[in-house]
Amino acid sequence: MSVISYTLEKCQKCMACIRICPTEALSMQQQRIQINREKCINCGQCLDACVHQGLQAKGSTLDDLAHYEKTVALLPPAVFGECHNHAEIEQLMHTFIEMGFDEVVELSAYEGAIYDHVQQYRKDNRGGYLISSFCPVVNRLIQMKYPMLLSNMIPFELTAEIAAKRIRQQYENKNVGIFYLCECIAKLPLGKFPYGNKRSEIDHCVSLVDLFPKIARIRNTKRLTTEICAKGLCSVASELFVQDEALSSTIVADGLKKVQLVLDLAEFGQLKGEHLLWLSNCINGCIGGNLLWGNPFEASINSRRHYASATKDAIELNNEEVILETVLFNRANMKSLKERMAEFTKINEQLEKLPGYDCGACGYPSCRVMAEEIVAGHSVLADCRIIHVKEI
Ligand code: SF4
Ligand code: SF4
Repeated sequence: MSVISYTLEKCQKCMACIRICPTEALSMQQQRIQINREKCINCGQCLDACVHQGLQAKGSTLDDLAHYEKTVALLPPAVFGECHNHAEIEQLMHTFIEMGFDEVVELSAYEGAIYDHVQQYRKDNRGGYLISSFCPVVNRLIQMKYPMLLSNMIPFELTAEIAAKRIRQQYENKNVGIFYLCECIAKLPLGKFPYGNKRSEIDHCVSLVDLFPKIARIRNTKRLTTEICAKGLCSVASELFVQDEALSSTIVADGLKKVQLVLDLAEFGQLKGEHLLWLSNCINGCIGGNLLWGNPFEASINSRRHYASATKDAIELNNEEVILETVLFNRANMKSLKERMAEFTKINEQLEKLPGYDCGACGYPSCRVMAEEIVAGHSVLADCRIIHVKEI
């Protein structure tokens, strides 16, 4: 489910978002941007490209705290990349208590457990390469553009979801509200639309960058005693991921361009070894999340420092908590290979009738998207400006 929304009044119709979208999910129709929510993978590139604030990604707000008897914030360890030392981590943790949460659970010990489970899964599944599934953008990209690679994915639950489940059990009869403070926009919809169409135990997903003005205002010298888990940092910082000898033959790719390059090689059978492909949309891993306020390079330096001084052990998680049947979204709506091939043929038939200039004058990013829209019944050949001009 796309989390991108659009404000017509702010849009300058510059088309920058349409040009940059890697999945051609955006088009300009009737003088406004249309978002194809099936195609959007929540990568956030359009938000970065739009300098007019025509596009936004919004999560829940802290107003929702009032609806619960008890509230718990789940904090991803990626945010610690924004802190220069341990004192700043403990101050940040305390800030969320001052914001109104009753409890703050930082997730490094859960991430550490996932790191261990990845190694075990790898030992148990030899015979080809495996693809990480912790990044929802990469998961959606594979589902949409590389369906042949789906069987290579490690089907692990989202760490925050595992923690939320445990917390829900702990407070079984209480009206507890679980808020996931997200480091990237792709995680904002996961409370409502979790992997595999199941029910989520997360009640609200809140953007960390939206909280930043409040964090900056109320942050002070008060600290919440916090220990963090080194392995948990390995799960969220690309450069730390390969620390362990057992993961030395891992291909780490961050940023969508590199991810697509690795997936192209995998799809065309160019990866021969038993590699693990550790892929993330954000630069340097989750520490470069597009809902964090710093930059991925300093976050990397800070994470290295925290790694060296971390003292907490990973939590014990059993396979039932971690391994899922699928990490796919809207699985029920997935087309079969036969249906895809039939659709592909129809699209190609329409594509042959179009000029192939990819000029964008029709408002679609390419002639192929125009052909797809014709097949879907949303457009007709005469909507092509070049064909239209030739006909008059
Ligand atoms: S980049 Fe922003 S201003 Fe330009 S067309 Fe897209 S939404 Fe409108
Ligand atoms: S979030 Fe990414 S996939 Fe979705 S519309 Fe924006 S650029 Fe396209």
